[in-house]
Amino acid sequence: MTPADLVPLLTVGAVLVGVFGLLIGSFLNVVVYRVPNGLSVVSPPSACPGCGEGIKPYDNVPVLSWLVLGGKCRSCREPISARYPLVELAGGAAFVGVAWWWTASTGLQATPTAVIASGLGLVAFLYLAAISLALGLIDLDVHRLPDRIVLPAYVVLTVLLGTASIIAGDPGALGRAAIGGVVLAAFYLVLAFVKPGAMGLGDVKLAGVLGFALAWLGWEELIVGACGAFFTGGLFAIVLLATGRARRGSGIPFGPWMLLGAWIGIVAGAPLADLYLSSLGLA
Ligand SMILES: [Zn+2]
Repeated sequence: MTPADLVPLLTVGAVLVGVFGLLIGSFLNVVVYRVPNGLSVVSPPSACPGCGEGIKPYDNVPVLSWLVLGGKCRSCREPISARYPLVELAGGAAFVGVAWWWTASTGLQATPTAVIASGLGLVAFLYLAAISLALGLIDLDVHRLPDRIVLPAYVVLTVLLGTASIIAGDPGALGRAAIGGVVLAAFYLVLAFVKPGAMGLGDVKLAGVLGFALAWLGWEELIVGACGAFFTGGLFAIVLLATGRARRGSGIPFGPWMLLGAWIGIVAGAPLADLYLSSLGLA
């Protein structure tokens, strides 16, 4: 097959992943609202917060339903926040982006075992993208990173990425991931002790997950991902202070910056590290 033959295949793949991401984004709206309140994410079915009327399946199509309804509940005409379709769009865009990055960085696999290993890795990072969106929004909303989302991630990522690296004949990646998780969690634990209030135990537990995923990819990804949190978070804090929109010590959650930094490390860790080293004349 020539690259041109692959265009239709990749296009169909991108559309399917995008639609799946929109549906996951729709589910994340439920997660972001219910998990911090200790509610089940499966029952009861979604209802309008204004009138309590159940949302019909045809009014629950990601993005399109909100547009068709003009951003209002069908029965009580109460406005529905634009955040719902935006989170759905973010889910779709994130899934297409992750699938694109993964395909571009791993290439197309020739053997069945390599295809399975690559597929498991892709699922792992799609899962990480979904929980990143949920955790970032929940931390912005209520300054918390719920254990119900963070703790299962240790199991899911260990199983998916561990199996992928063993199938691919690279068990060292699993060891590297474990070290990365422990090191980044320990680093945040020290910060939480040194500066209580700025960092919490939720950040420590999330750091373990992010360190694991970053180091599974490589040490450069881990370093860039870890520094990315402080770089983007620090830049944002400087802008807020300079524009007088926040006072020193006012509570800005750090989770969204940890997640943003980690994704910079995941997608661009290796090229950014090479760029930095070559700018120092070291590579
Ligand atoms: Zn209503």
